[in-house]
Amino acid sequence: MMKKFVILLLVVCYLLPAKADEGMWLPFLLQQLNEKDMKKNGCKLSAKDIYDVNNTSLKDAIVQFGGGCTAEIISDKGLILTNHHCGYSSIAGHSSVDKDYLTNGFWAMNASEELTNPGLTAMLIVRIEDVTAQVNEGTSATTSDKDLEALQQKKIKEIVANVTKGNKYEAFVRPFFYGNQFILFITQTFKDVRLVGAPPSFIGKFGGDTDNWMWPRHTGDFSMFRIYADKNNEPAEYAKDNVPFKPKKSLSISMKGVKEGDFTMVYGFPGRTQEYLFSDAVDMTMNDSDPTKVALREKRLSIMNRFMKANDTTRIAYAANYASVANYWKKWMGEMQGLKKFDAVNKKKEFEKKFIELLSTDPAEKEKFNNVFNDFRSLYSIYRVFQKQLDYYNECLLGFNAMIAARAAEKLVASVKGKSDEDKQKEFAKAAESNEKFFKTYNKAMDKTICSAMLEMYANGIDKNLRVFAIDSLFMLYPNKYDFITDILYNQSMFVNKDKYLNALKTASVADIENDIAYKLWKSTSKYYNNNVLFQYTTIDAQLNALYKKYTDKLTKVYKDKKFYPDANSTLRITYGKVKGYKPRDGVYYNYFTTLDGMMEKENPNDDEFIIFPKMKDLYAKKDYGKYADKDGTLHMSFVATNHTTGGNSGSPVLNAKGELIGTNYDRVWEGTMSDIMYNPNICRNITLDVRYTLFVIDKYAGAGYLLNEMKLIQ
Ligand code: ASP
Repeated sequence: MMKKFVILLLVVCYLLPAKADEGMWLPFLLQQLNEKDMKKNGCKLSAKDIYDVNNTSLKDAIVQFGGGCTAEIISDKGLILTNHHCGYSSIAGHSSVDKDYLTNGFWAMNASEELTNPGLTAMLIVRIEDVTAQVNEGTSATTSDKDLEALQQKKIKEIVANVTKGNKYEAFVRPFFYGNQFILFITQTFKDVRLVGAPPSFIGKFGGDTDNWMWPRHTGDFSMFRIYADKNNEPAEYAKDNVPFKPKKSLSISMKGVKEGDFTMVYGFPGRTQEYLFSDAVDMTMNDSDPTKVALREKRLSIMNRFMKANDTTRIAYAANYASVANYWKKWMGEMQGLKKFDAVNKKKEFEKKFIELLSTDPAEKEKFNNVFNDFRSLYSIYRVFQKQLDYYNECLLGFNAMIAARAAEKLVASVKGKSDEDKQKEFAKAAESNEKFFKTYNKAMDKTICSAMLEMYANGIDKNLRVFAIDSLFMLYPNKYDFITDILYNQSMFVNKDKYLNALKTASVADIENDIAYKLWKSTSKYYNNNVLFQYTTIDAQLNALYKKYTDKLTKVYKDKKFYPDANSTLRITYGKVKGYKPRDGVYYNYFTTLDGMMEKENPNDDEFIIFPKMKDLYAKKDYGKYADKDGTLHMSFVATNHTTGGNSGSPVLNAKGELIGTNYDRVWEGTMSDIMYNPNICRNITLDVRYTLFVIDKYAGAGYLLNEMKLIQ
C-alpha cells in the first residue's frame, strides 16, 4: 500500500507543471513568478531587464518572423538572425536553376544587394497587459457558454479598437488557460524585410531529414534578414528608399561559448503546446492521430522525393513545401514514440485519479470533477472519429493539386460575387498571373502520382459510410482503379492544365470554373465536411474547451503552491534552463556540444544530405577558425540545454545569464519531441546553434565579414 502511495506521489510530482526547467512564461509576469528562481539558477538579470513597459528591455530585440518563427535583432541597423528553415521559403523563392541560392547560399555584399520578400513580416511586441477583468465585464458565473463567448468577443473588439486608436500599432487578445485569463498584446509589424544572407544547404540543412529532430547535430541552421522602415522609423510597405530600422535594442553577442551547467534562456514565440490534456486526448494523439498523419505524409514525401531527385527544377520549386511536410512528419513520429516510451496515457490517468482523490474533503467538488472527467471521456470517444476524418481531409484530400487549386478557385469565385465586370477582370488577372508562375514549375506527373496514392489511402482509411459521397461514387464506378480515376480528373480539370485554366481566367469565366470536374469534387468535399465533420468537430471543441477551463482553474487551486504556465499560443514567452547533455537510452550519454570534427565524420559525398563543399574542408584542414574557435581549439557547432521550447521557437535567441546572445534555437532532440504534451526534464532538450559557428560561416566561409562590423561582440 505504502509503495503504491509513493509511486502515485511520484507520478503526481512528475506530471505537475513547472518542475525545474519546464515552462514557457509570460515576460510581464516574470517578476512575480520567476525572477527569484531564475536568479537562483544563475541569471544575472532582473525581470525588468528582460521585460519592461516603461524602459527599453531585451524584449525590444525579439521579433516574430514571418508569423511562425522567431528572430532576434543583432545590430542597430535592423539586422536580424533567424533559422535557415525559417528563411527557407524566401531563399527558395529567390532561387532558380541558374541562381541556386538553396544549394550555393546567398550573401548580399552591400545593402543594395539585399533581396526583398513580399509578404514577409517582422513583428515586435510593444506592450503586454492582462485584460481578463475587462474581457469578463458584464458576465457572471451563470452566463451560458454561448453568451459568454459572444460577450467576451465583443469586449475584445472594443479593447483592441481602443488601444490602436490614433497610433500605428496593432493589437490582439488571446485566451490563456482555456479562457481563464485574457492577455492583450500590442504590436508593431514591419513589412519590408530583406534577405541579407543564407549559407548553402550543405551548411544550413546539413543532415537533412535524417538528422532533423536529432542529436548529435551539425546543422548551421541560420539565415539573416534586415528590417527596413520609412524615414520616420515606422513600418512601411517595401519602398526603394526605405531605410534600415533603428531598433530600441539590439543584442550583444558573447564570444565566450558555454559550458555544462551554464544558465540559458530562450526568448521567443512558441507556437502550440497542450500540457494539460486529458488522458483520452493523449491516447487519441498517440494511437490514432499521429500515426495516421505520419503514414499519409510518408507516402506523399516518398513520391515527392523520387520526382525531386530526378529533376532540378522540381527539386527547387518544391523544396520549401517538401521541407515543411517532412518537418512535422518526423516530429509526429518522434512524439508518438516518446509518449509511448514514457507511458504517457497511464501517467495521465494516475494523475487524474490522484486529483479526484485530493477533492475528497469536498464531496460536491469531487462529484463535479468526476462529472467533468466523465464528460471528457464521452466527448473524446466521439471526437476521435471526427479527428480522423479531419486528418484525412488535411493530409490526404488536400494533398494533391487538383483539390488545392479547386479550393483556391472557390475563394476566387466568392470574392468576385457582386463585383463590377471591371473589378472581376482585375481579380481574375491577378489569379492568372500567380497561376502562370505556378505552372512554370508545376510537375504534373508527380502530382498525379500523389493524387492516385492519396485516393487509395482514403479508400482504405475511411469507412465507406464516412466518405465524401462524390469521391465514393468514383470508387464504386471504378473499383480499385485509382490511377484511372486520377487520369479522368487530371485530363479534364482546368486546374491542372495550364492553357485551359489561364484561358478561363482570362475570359473571367465563372461558369467554366463552376463546371470543372475537380471544382465539383471539391465542392462536394467541402459540403460534406462542413455539414458532417467541421460543425460537429468545432462544437465538441468548444465543449471540451469549457471542461478544460474548469479543470485548469481547479488545478491551480488544488496545487496552490505550484506555479502554472499557460500553453504556448504563438505569444511571447521566456523559458530558462541549463546547458546539459542527456542519456537517450541505457548505456549511452550524449555530450552537450558538437564540433566541426563531427560534421566531417558524417560526410558522405554520395548522400546529398551529408555533402560537404571543398571550401569548408579546406578551412577544417587548416583549422582556420580564427576568433570563433573554442578554448579547446575546436570549432563548436551546436549545444543542448534544458529549455522548454516548441515550434515557433525556431530562430529564437538563446541568451546567457547576462542576456548576451550565445546562439539561435533551432530544434529539439528526438527522444524529447513529446514535450509539447508531456515535458520530461531528463530527456527534453532544445538544440542551439552556437553563435560562434554562425559568425565563422559568415566571415570565414562566406566572406561577408563586413556584417560583423555592425554587431557588438563581447570577447
Ligand atoms: N525544429 C523545430 C521546428 O521546426 C523547432 C522545435 O519545434 O523545437 O518547428
